Amino acid sequence: MDRFSEIEALDRENVAHSYGRFPVAIEKGKNAVCWDFDGKRYIDFTSGIGVNSLGFCDDGWQKAVTAQLSKLQHISNLYYTEPCARLAKTLCERTGMKKVFFANGGAEANEGAIKAARKYSFDKYGEGRSKILTLKNSFHGRTVTTLSATGQDVFHNFFFPFTEGFEFLTAGDLDELKAHADGACALMIELIQGEGGVVPVDEWYVRAAAKFCQEKDILLIVDEVQTGIGRTGKLFCFEQYGITPDIVTAAKGIGGGLPLAAVLFGEKTEGVFAPGQHATTFGGNPVCCAGALEVLDRLDDGFLADVAEKGGYLRDKILKMPHVRSVSGMGLMIGIELETAVKSADVVRAGLKTGVLLLTAKEKVRLLPPLTITSGEMDEGLEALAKALRAG
Ligand SMILES: *Cc1c(COP(=O)(O)O)cnc(C)c1O
Repeated sequence: MDRFSEIEALDRENVAHSYGRFPVAIEKGKNAVCWDFDGKRYIDFTSGIGVNSLGFCDDGWQKAVTAQLSKLQHISNLYYTEPCARLAKTLCERTGMKKVFFANGGAEANEGAIKAARKYSFDKYGEGRSKILTLKNSFHGRTVTTLSATGQDVFHNFFFPFTEGFEFLTAGDLDELKAHADGACALMIELIQGEGGVVPVDEWYVRAAAKFCQEKDILLIVDEVQTGIGRTGKLFCFEQYGITPDIVTAAKGIGGGLPLAAVLFGEKTEGVFAPGQHATTFGGNPVCCAGALEVLDRLDDGFLADVAEKGGYLRDKILKMPHVRSVSGMGLMIGIELETAVKSADVVRAGLKTGVLLLTAKEKVRLLPPLTITSGEMDEGLEALAKALRAG
């Protein structure tokens, strides 16, 4: 049996099949290139769903992580560690937020944000002001509560009873927001809906909603699990909109490939949790934080300007490709709308043959390349993408 077949059989027999898989096993990678067990080469336009910000096995990142790994891998949040404290300081300095809570993934970060919003409102107004407004077509995670927060019916099945207190709004409809404001403690939004199909939310609406929420003391939670950490060409996407959120969540790309998430609290919410009210065993793990410190260190203004430029380059080339109707997104978060006869899943499958890893988001093909992708890697990936489009 070849290596792939062996791995595939082990997985099929032993891993719970709660998600789909492509018939490929990746063995190793460097920056935006990776290889499967047959030595076939792929350009990675996925970065592990927006996770490997600095690509595969970046030298500086590897050094930072292994240096920490050889000193202390974990101690629990009962004690102070240097990477955790330094990372929190860096995040606060670079965002203007006031405090950070570290978690392990996007859903858990959003759970923390939801708890914080409800506690803020409970402390100030008492019971009965616990409703959280989110947008239709959003995605906020897979726990029971973040499924409730997700504004898509397909996610509200099987796992009853769901957490109460979520209402879904149409993006762009300010009157609807106003009509649902009574009893609400927070509005939680993605600025570009990622899983929903790389759909940007209108800037005027975001600004008007932020202003309205501020007037009503409704907290604005921005879910930057996918849009954060340089993805759109700014450290956080909220900077593109000129708004000041009360809570920001980050995950995916923050650790450069290690599981880490953060809830950033602004002035109103920085003191909302007292000791014992919120925690998680692995939160602020020193190895993950050391990786994140390297990621943030590299994402300076010049690097972020390059991300925006690379995004523009990819967009221009993709717009000229066969079967492409439009391109959405910002920076290196790209959604490709196809002619209706062409299915995004078929294009992704064809990409595996032509040598490029791609994602879907609803009917679109989605690209989330590593932020460090080189122009040579982009051109190689674009060529394979064009071939996949012709085949798909
Ligand atoms: C991926 C994602 C999540 C969930 O993150 P997990 O780490 O899978 O729990 C939440 N919100 C957004 C916007 C995401 O893209």
